[in-house]
Amino acid sequence: MAILVTGGAGYIGSHTCIELLNAGYELVVLDNLVNSKFESVRRVKELTNKEFPFYKVDLLHIDKLEEIFKENTIDAVIHLAGLKAVGESVEQPLFYYHNNITGTLNLCKVMSLYGVKNLVFSSSATVYGLPDSVPITENSPLQAKNPYGQTKLMIEQVLQDLYQSDKEWSISLLRYFNPIGAHESGRLGEDPQGIPNNLMPYITQVAIGKLPELHIFGNNYSTADGTGVRDYIHVVDLAKGHVCALEKVWKTTGVDAFNLGTGKGYSVLEIVQAFEKASGVEIPFRVIGPRPGDIGACYADPIKAKINLGWQAQRGLEEMCRDAWRWQEQNPLGYETNKKDTTLKLDVLL
Ligand code: NAD
Ligand code: UDP
Repeated sequence: MAILVTGGAGYIGSHTCIELLNAGYELVVLDNLVNSKFESVRRVKELTNKEFPFYKVDLLHIDKLEEIFKENTIDAVIHLAGLKAVGESVEQPLFYYHNNITGTLNLCKVMSLYGVKNLVFSSSATVYGLPDSVPITENSPLQAKNPYGQTKLMIEQVLQDLYQSDKEWSISLLRYFNPIGAHESGRLGEDPQGIPNNLMPYITQVAIGKLPELHIFGNNYSTADGTGVRDYIHVVDLAKGHVCALEKVWKTTGVDAFNLGTGKGYSVLEIVQAFEKASGVEIPFRVIGPRPGDIGACYADPIKAKINLGWQAQRGLEEMCRDAWRWQEQNPLGYETNKKDTTLKLDVLL
């Protein structure tokens, strides 16, 4: 009895693997490593002292995917694999639709073929588009603002239709808010390629001296200090949410969506202050114009997950900042630190 984790080498996937292994599950991990490194998988094994098969397989290669189901007894799938950069999805919509949607269709086809009908899917708060009001409940209107968001909405619809066609399916749609932070060991964390798009990795790279200053995208929103407000959630809390969702899908059938957030919103300036306090490093910043398509405030009503999954975020902002900083300080080059050609740079940074 094993759980297949797609995208298990990625930021959220690697933390989810740790929580699943710690909860006693056997794993099979799949990732094409397009946005991750095998080193994260190696560290998951090191941290848990547990073994599991890893397949460097692309979901678009359905034959290779099927081999995984042939070789292992899979009982449920946690499906995190996907591309997630909003700007890139606007520039390359076909690439995003093909990767995220065709990849998911292939997965569901193979799951059906092998009678595996338990699925936990990584959706996103992006499916709420520009929310009319906050906090956002699961019943808030759904809309997409960009091709990335559209892929999440479409996949949610595909999964609803799949259940309508076959009532044996049991599917949890997990709508993540803003995952930040890292494993408290400092061995796993977010390893963005190039200049980060998201706030916390940008801040940590300013803190370590890789980037000169933070650009704050607008201070004219209808929020307490004018900067954007988001619901930041510790990635370990988020990972634990997958274990709870998995326990729910075993017991039921149907499709259900859950917000995974803390229910508390923090502004960009509050995040900067909290990070400075946790790290002792000052973050130089400059306010520039708003980022196109950005919203003022977005935070969850997480009560449904508490009632139905028995899950609630436990870690506060201080821990999120502290763990993000520990990861960045200990791994200034992300997972690349073992590479020969980066050793010199590492010495300089340290
Ligand atoms: P990530 O990029 O670190 O992880 C995704 C993994 O999927 C990567 O390791 C990548 O190599 C793999 N992948 C992509 N396409 C693949 C394919 N065709 N076949 C096999 N593997 C493939 O991203 P993450 O932050 O860990 O996000 C995980 C999931 O959560 C994604 O689906 C993302 O859209 C969703 N999500 C993330 C956030 C966030 O802020 N990080 C928020 C909401 C939802
Ligand atoms: N943000 C910012 N500078 C950055 C990155 C983000 O001011 O370099 C702001 C952004 O406008 C938003 C918040 O930080 O208000 C969180 O942005 P992120 O991209 O991390 O998450 P998302 O907007 O996708 O929820």
